[in-house]
Amino acid sequence: MSKRKSYMKWSWIIIILFFVLSILDIRFGLLGFLCMLAPMYHALRGRGKVHCSSYCPRGSFLGKFLSKLSFQNTLPKWMRSKIFKHILLFIMMILFSTSLYHAGWDYLNIAFAIFRFMLTSFIVGILIGVFFKPRSWCQICPMGHATGLIRDAIENK
Ligand code: SF4
Repeated sequence: MSKRKSYMKWSWIIIILFFVLSILDIRFGLLGFLCMLAPMYHALRGRGKVHCSSYCPRGSFLGKFLSKLSFQNTLPKWMRSKIFKHILLFIMMILFSTSLYHAGWDYLNIAFAIFRFMLTSFIVGILIGVFFKPRSWCQICPMGHATGLIRDAIENK
C-alpha cells in the first residue's frame, strides 16, 4: 500500500484559524463538526487512523509546540488502558450530546457549543501534553479511540 502524504507539519494552522475565526464570528464554530467527523469518515472508508497520522490539526499542534514545554513524563498505565479510554469516550459523548441538546435548534448556540467543546478539549490536550509527553492526549483522545474502534470493527468483519 502506498504511503499517504502527511500534512502534520503545518495542519496545526487549521485549528488556530478555527479558534481565531470562531472568536471573531461564532458561526465558524460549526466548522468544528468537520474536525470531529473527518477521523470517522476516514475510518469508515477503511483507512484506519490515517487522520491521526497524516492530517489532524490538533495532533499537529501538540507535536509541534509542546516538545520544548513538556515535562516528557509517560502517561500512567491506567490512563492508557482500554477501559479508561472507553469511559472517557462515553463521558465526552454524553457531555457533547447534552450541550447540543441545550443548544436547541439555534445554530448560533450549536456553533458555540461546538466551539466550547473544541476549546476545552484543546486546553486539556495541552495541559496533558505539558505534564506528560507532548502528544499524550493522542493516547486517550476520544476521537482517536473511536476511530480505532471503527478500524478494529472493519478489520474483524
Ligand atoms: S488521537 Fe485525537 S488529537 Fe490525536 S491525532 Fe488522533 S484525532 Fe487528533
